[in-house]
Amino acid sequence: MSARRPRGKRLAFETLAIHAGQEPDRTTGAVIVPIYATSTYAQEAVGKHKGYEYSRTGNPTRAALETCLASLEGATWALAFASGMAASDAVAHLLSSGDHVVLADDVYGGTYRLFARVFDRAGISLTPVDMTEPRNVRRAITPQTKLVWIETPSNPLLKIVDVKRVARIAHEAKALAIVDNTFATPYLQRPLELGADLVLHSTTKYIGGHSDVVGGAVAGNDPKLRERLAFIQNAAGGVPGAFDAWLVLRGAKTLAVRMERHARNATAIAKWLKADKRVARVYYPGLRTHPQAELAAMQMRAPGGMVSFEVKAGEPAAQRAVSRTKLFALAESLGGVESLVELPLAMTHASVRGTPLAPPPGLIRLSVGIEDVEDLIADLHQALA
Ligand SMILES: *Cc1c(COP(=O)(O)O)cnc(C)c1O
Repeated sequence: MSARRPRGKRLAFETLAIHAGQEPDRTTGAVIVPIYATSTYAQEAVGKHKGYEYSRTGNPTRAALETCLASLEGATWALAFASGMAASDAVAHLLSSGDHVVLADDVYGGTYRLFARVFDRAGISLTPVDMTEPRNVRRAITPQTKLVWIETPSNPLLKIVDVKRVARIAHEAKALAIVDNTFATPYLQRPLELGADLVLHSTTKYIGGHSDVVGGAVAGNDPKLRERLAFIQNAAGGVPGAFDAWLVLRGAKTLAVRMERHARNATAIAKWLKADKRVARVYYPGLRTHPQAELAAMQMRAPGGMVSFEVKAGEPAAQRAVSRTKLFALAESLGGVESLVELPLAMTHASVRGTPLAPPPGLIRLSVGIEDVEDLIADLHQALA
């Protein structure tokens, strides 16, 4: 492929999504990367092989996915995992007993749980802070801080963190900055170019894009971090199977066109909700009224497909509305082609009820799909009636 690359010009995102790591198969000409359903690989002599020994360590379908994901993040490497949490777990294993983590106060609930209830036993402490104010990160940093965990846009309030500034603060303290880029995807936001050391994905969401697979990934540019994380990936074994890697790779091919449509539909829905008398408040980084609309516009290509809102009639009315939608399925998760609706406090964020991290009780979260937007608006209209 490099022979066809115009001199001096890198291939564009849309092209890389379809071609990076996905050259036609050398033995058969298969245009699509095969699903290498094999656990092991025959060796010609001891240690003489074609680069693969055992599929926990490496598998050609997974390798194709890793090459593709790295190219999309503008990274030199990526590692694929069995889930977003398996990827996060591998990153947490970079730390040692006594280390401290600063994390955004509304990170994905599972990320908070991983540090607060699993890695606490390994002697790793954490401080959640509101990262929309980068000063709060500086204040929370101690001499033991080794990792600053950013998630932007956040879930479910769609707060935006200034990746450049927070990464700089982390680096001043000699800590690593990681961005969970699941909500934005590399098409809308490229954290490594903004100064982050690592970028993490639940590929279950937009990258997979069809709600048919669970997966995760970490990408970066530092070869030492790659070496350690690949060691952890192999040592702890949280790898995706070949079929799962193939599904994520297939999803990634259409990421750019899907994200354009997700963002266009979400923008129309956010504007419609904002104008509706039954709605008290809309959270969407693409609205001019969003407190960080300007930062979002600078840091992201488009504001994404997630919209949250509160209804004036409060929690019972919100409960009713989410059970009445016909196109928006009442379900956890996000990022698929189909629209989903949920009540964060009762569903995705139930574990933080009663804590300062709890979202407003009547908050409704939409994962806006790529259906016809008029159909989606009509569905919301009848559900709110
Ligand atoms: C879903 C999600 C995760 C966890 O990923 P899994 O694939 O469910 O393990 C992490 N971060 C964010 C932002 C997510 O939405």
